This record gives sequence, C-alpha cells and structure tokens, in this order.
Amino acid sequence: MTPIEVNVERTAGDEGGGRRHPNTCPSCRSHFRDDELRHSLRVCAQCGHHFAVGAMERIEQMLDPGSFVEIGSELRAADPLAFVDLKPYTDRLLDAELATGLGDSLVAGSGKIVGRPAAVAVMDFAFMGGSMGSVMGERFCLAADLAVARRIPLISVTASGGARMQENILALMQMAKTVGAVDSLREIGVPYISVLAHPTTGGVIASFASLGDVVVAEPGALLSFAGPRVVEQTTGEKTAPDFGRSESNLRLGQLDAVVPRRELRGELAKLLVLFSPAEDEPTGDNEPLPQTGSDENPVDRVLGMFGLGRKRG
Ligand SMILES: [Zn+2]
Repeated sequence: MTPIEVNVERTAGDEGGGRRHPNTCPSCRSHFRDDELRHSLRVCAQCGHHFAVGAMERIEQMLDPGSFVEIGSELRAADPLAFVDLKPYTDRLLDAELATGLGDSLVAGSGKIVGRPAAVAVMDFAFMGGSMGSVMGERFCLAADLAVARRIPLISVTASGGARMQENILALMQMAKTVGAVDSLREIGVPYISVLAHPTTGGVIASFASLGDVVVAEPGALLSFAGPRVVEQTTGEKTAPDFGRSESNLRLGQLDAVVPRRELRGELAKLLVLFSPAEDEPTGDNEPLPQTGSDENPVDRVLGMFGLGRKRG
C-alpha cells in the first residue's frame, strides 16, 4: 500500500509539541473545569474567547428548558460510494456517533425562546468537522418544512468545515437543496435567522448560512468560503490579520451584527417578538409597532422598519 502523506497545520498555541487541553483558553491560557465552562456558556471568563459548543448544549443555552422536540433523529448517512480514505466512511460515521452521541452533524427540531416558538437547526463541529452531507441537508430541510407548516421562524446555528467529501456529489447537492428550503420560507414570509459560529466555511457559508433575513455571528468566528492559508497559497498574497473573521465580515456588510454568546438568547428573543404577526404583539411599555396592511409580508414589515429591503429574484 502506498503511504499517504498528511500535512498537519500547527497554530501558535501548539508550540512545544504539547497538545492543548480542550478546556484551556487558546487566547489567554486560562484553564477551566468543565462545569465552569458550561456555566459560562463556554466563554472564557478572563478574556471572552468563545469555545466551541456542541449542538445539544447550544440548544440548552438557546431554548426554554424542556421545550425542545427533536425531528429526524433516526436518519443516518448511507455510503453509496463505499468510500475509504484512511479508514472506511462507515467507521468514521460510527466513531463520530460514539464520540458525540449524535447521528449526524446537525440536530433539527422545534422549541421556544422566552415563550415564542421557533424551528431550529443546530450544527455540531465535533461530528466530522460539521461537514455537510445528505443527512445534515435533509435535517435542515425538515426544520425548514416544520417552520413552513407551522408558520414559525427558523433559526439555524452553523459550525462547519464544508461539504463531506465522502459523499461527493450527494454532499454538494445539499447546497441547492438547503437554498431551496430557505426560498420556500421566503415565499410565504416566514423569517429565517442565521447564527454563524466558529468556523462556518465551505459549502455551508456558500449556501443557507448566508441567506438569513437576519445574519448574526459570534465574536472572532472564521466565516469564509476558504480559510486564510488556502487564500494565501492560491493568490500568493498575505491576508489581513482579521481575514474572514466576524468583525471584518460585519465591516464589509456580510453580517447584520456580531453578538456575544451571553447576549444571543436575548437577541433572538427580541427578533422573534419583532417578527411576530402584528396581532401577537405583547402588551407592555414597548412602543407599538406601526400598523401595516394585513397582506404585507411580515418579514418585509420588520426589515422595512430598519430601512432594510430584501432582494427578490
Ligand atoms: Zn481566555
């Protein structure tokens, strides 16, 4: 058998050959117990670095306790190409499921945020690098279908290295499939809120993740089709230090906001209130929303309040 050369990219935190503990902050080197990190929503209490969050923990952070109902959990990837690289695809799937407790890289379902219902699709980078395969795409579409059927907003949280090469064209076609699902929300005016976590790259940022009516990101996340190393190798030019990061995406108009994780649930709750049908406005000391014709698309109504129009094809 021909040996396969593997290049391992080392980052600044890896010097000395030592492997960093997952609970050690890569920015300031503070170390935390797992319960401390869970309590702080996996944000470094010293410097604010955002650690990765698994899909189930993210759902726990975001939704009202006990409100989540999962859909599509029974789906598992097929292996139509009988793909083998360093090991068979079926073994990789099994290892990932044992390591994460998830059947694929996206968890779909519905729940509530401060009492407001939403369909949710949350990715987990720990499952094969959050790669986009047929099950991931199908689960996203199930969440979108649920949002359409119940006329409730869809919220996705993405973290992905891109398409899953082991599924080849079946992985790539999830881009078209998920974009079609977002379009079906748009047709009937059901809002879609996209939350981008570190890293959201490749086929996921190039499809549904960029198409939210509102697109927000966590601080410092890499959000780019290709990473800086690949761009530098391809173009022969040095990239800016914040290349592809949330902050530069905000500056360049690709994002509506950068939202720290501690504020995310509150911001999502506000958006769900703003996107609610007019007759559903909560009473209180909030200024009433302007009255509009009943046939107006509710997404257009809210975006119009902020002077943001949506492009329609
Ligand atoms: Zn830190």
